Amino acid sequence: MKAIPYVNDEVITRAEKYYIFDWDDNILHMPTKIRLEHKEADGTWKPVEVSTAMFAIVRTDTENYRAPSDGGWDAAFKYFADAPDANYFLCDTIEALERIEHGEKPGPSYRALKKTLREGRLFAIVTARGHSAKTLELAVRVFIKYALTDREREEMMSNLRGYRKHFDHVEKFGTDAEELDYYLSMCHYSGVMDSRFFERVKHDPVYLERIRENPTARFPELAKEYAIRDFVEHIFHTLKRNGVTDKPVSIGFSDDDTNNVRIISRYIENELGRRFEGFKFVVYDTSDRTLEKGRKLVVSMPGKLI
Ligand SMILES: [Mg+2]
Repeated sequence: MKAIPYVNDEVITRAEKYYIFDWDDNILHMPTKIRLEHKEADGTWKPVEVSTAMFAIVRTDTENYRAPSDGGWDAAFKYFADAPDANYFLCDTIEALERIEHGEKPGPSYRALKKTLREGRLFAIVTARGHSAKTLELAVRVFIKYALTDREREEMMSNLRGYRKHFDHVEKFGTDAEELDYYLSMCHYSGVMDSRFFERVKHDPVYLERIRENPTARFPELAKEYAIRDFVEHIFHTLKRNGVTDKPVSIGFSDDDTNNVRIISRYIENELGRRFEGFKFVVYDTSDRTLEKGRKLVVSMPGKLI
């Protein structure tokens, strides 16, 4: 096996590729449950917990299922937000990764996230959950420990040092832990149902206007758009700061929710593709579980829209 160099100088010759990942059923099949009440044969309501897949089916069955009478929808999605006394997201991430170790099939973009990390590329996690950026970043750290082999982690460090040397002109590197901190701090983590995230969106003049103009728009979708735009802008400025102007840049987005795929594709076509003309945008629809990596859609090519 080829020895891994301490610093991979070849990163400079690579095409620029960046990725935006939805988390649930895209990277990992999470065991997180939704709390509901179910109508029994005798007409009484009994608390039940259902999977996200089950919820997609029963959510419209309002005759037999409803949000908990004590706490409503906030209580229903309790495990999708951070709590002072428990970190549901980290526990569920570990459980999902353990199941993969025991032979269960990972999410369709699991390998894409592994490759992104191994290559040391910048990425964003964009999820309709209510967790803080810190919680999502910690879950990525857990993912790195579980999903990457020792050799893959070594490769990641070699690539990270390569980027640091060529882009940040670093000559003396920090410890592996410090370099990993730096890398992960350059990536974005957006739990769009987190109230702090909502505050940010609400204070953005463009989105404030959009919410006002279109009050019926579903907030999670607008917030996802906001998170994606934020990351693409971050990439644009990072490339500019590093003097990268002549290389092809592609940005990938993957989601298993066909509704999100449709909305984000349209957003890229109508806005992002026009605004960031030099970028290629690729959307991966990972809703079909029979396809290994999902369906690839090129939404916008540099200088023109598809
Ligand atoms: Mg999903």
